[in-house]
Amino acid sequence: MSYERSIVYDGLSDTEYERLAENVRTAIWEELAPLESRIEDEEQIPYDIVLPVLRECGAFGLLVPREYGGSGLSIRQYLPIIAEFAKIQGGIRVVVHVHNSFAHALSEVGDDTQRKAILPGAATGAKSVAFALTEPEHGTGADLGTTARPSGSGFVLTGQKWLITNSDLASHFFVFAKTGPEEVSAFLVERDAPGLSIEPLPETMGCKGGEHGLVTLDEVTVDSSALVGKPGEGQQHLERALEISRVFIAASSLGTSERALELSLAHAQSRVTFGKAIGQRQAIQRYLAEMATDVYALRGMLADSAAKWDAGTRIPAESSMVKQFGLEAVGRVTDRALLVHGGIGYTRKHPVERLYRDARLNWLEEGTPTIQYMVAARELLSGFRFSDGFGAIGWPGRDERVQGYAGR
Ligand SMILES: Cc1cc2nc3c(=O)[nH]c(=O)nc-3n(C[C@H](O)[C@H](O)[C@H](O)COP(=O)(O)OP(=O)(O)OC[C@H]3O[C@@H](n4cnc5c(N)ncnc54)[C@H](O)[C@@H]3O)c2cc1C
Repeated sequence: MSYERSIVYDGLSDTEYERLAENVRTAIWEELAPLESRIEDEEQIPYDIVLPVLRECGAFGLLVPREYGGSGLSIRQYLPIIAEFAKIQGGIRVVVHVHNSFAHALSEVGDDTQRKAILPGAATGAKSVAFALTEPEHGTGADLGTTARPSGSGFVLTGQKWLITNSDLASHFFVFAKTGPEEVSAFLVERDAPGLSIEPLPETMGCKGGEHGLVTLDEVTVDSSALVGKPGEGQQHLERALEISRVFIAASSLGTSERALELSLAHAQSRVTFGKAIGQRQAIQRYLAEMATDVYALRGMLADSAAKWDAGTRIPAESSMVKQFGLEAVGRVTDRALLVHGGIGYTRKHPVERLYRDARLNWLEEGTPTIQYMVAARELLSGFRFSDGFGAIGWPGRDERVQGYAGR
């Protein structure tokens, strides 16, 4: 499945990319990582410090196309960066993820006027689009209670959305609403639109410090220019945005897993019991080997998904599978990291304890496991198959073998 792209994410040259990635890595480890303990204590990201750092290192423009002032990274280039953010405090990773993911979605499905109005500001962090799908009284996807009724030259939106990340930072909300009994449409609604109000919700288990608010739309009038695409195209925009965003969540699972593995390796080499480093015990070695195997498998799946997307291929099956595998992998890896660390890993604010809590959000972002199974199975049952080879290694005679197996 391929589609025409009006916006080209051609990425930066290797040299430009290395410079950007180095800037971001420096910002992550020298400016942001030292704030981890403060954010966990205060359950609040100090935006006065964090936002200028993100702006300065270029984190807001990573997925904004170059013609709108961003870096226009390819997915292959973006994944290691979002994975690096997932190694430190999760609340910051979530801010960066949502900002970039929905700047990317807007560049893919918005029209030229919408892109020009928002993307140059998004490249610097002056503007940001939050994703408003989930509702307190309805399911996700097409099961929506929010309505948009035609009125004059525009629409009137009524309903509630909750758990909306960056609701404290967003300049716009990407709102999904029913324009007919079976028709979902997407709208870009400005934060200060009359009738739109935002209330904070309780602090979360992990990824602390950001806001995931309750957004109420009480007879909010928008012009027809707020409609993204045509009426009834909301479901397809939603699926397209989530398709690549699920890969970003899987990259976050990778980053968290890699940090948990690094911490575990260091602990296994330094912690001595009964006269020997615990890393010399076979039981601990097994945990480490299993953690590394999950990391390696996830890296391979992510590389494949990124290469396909960058080549212009739709990847609904792959993105659901890598998202699901990623959350299971990070679950196993952070669990084993706790086992390797013993009691000290369970103490509040130990990096391993925080990674374990932060990882749990990956179960929910961009859809629960139930949704991922449903999408992957739908694609398989409607004809999705893996290609004949992977990387440089082909599988000669595959067709014959598949027919042979099918005949048994
Ligand atoms: C910190 C945080 C940030 C978030 N950020 C955003 C955001 O920015 N924007 C946004 O729109 N949402 C956001 N969400 C919401 C998140 O995407 C949802 O919580 C998640 O998709 C699950 O939806 P739900 O909470 O409505 O759970 P429910 O739909 O109530 O699901 C509860 C359980 O029932 C299962 N279930 C539900 N329906 C079915 C069905 N038909 N068949 C089988 N099983 C089913 C689910 O898989 C799950 O296990 C965020 C959530 C959190 C916690």
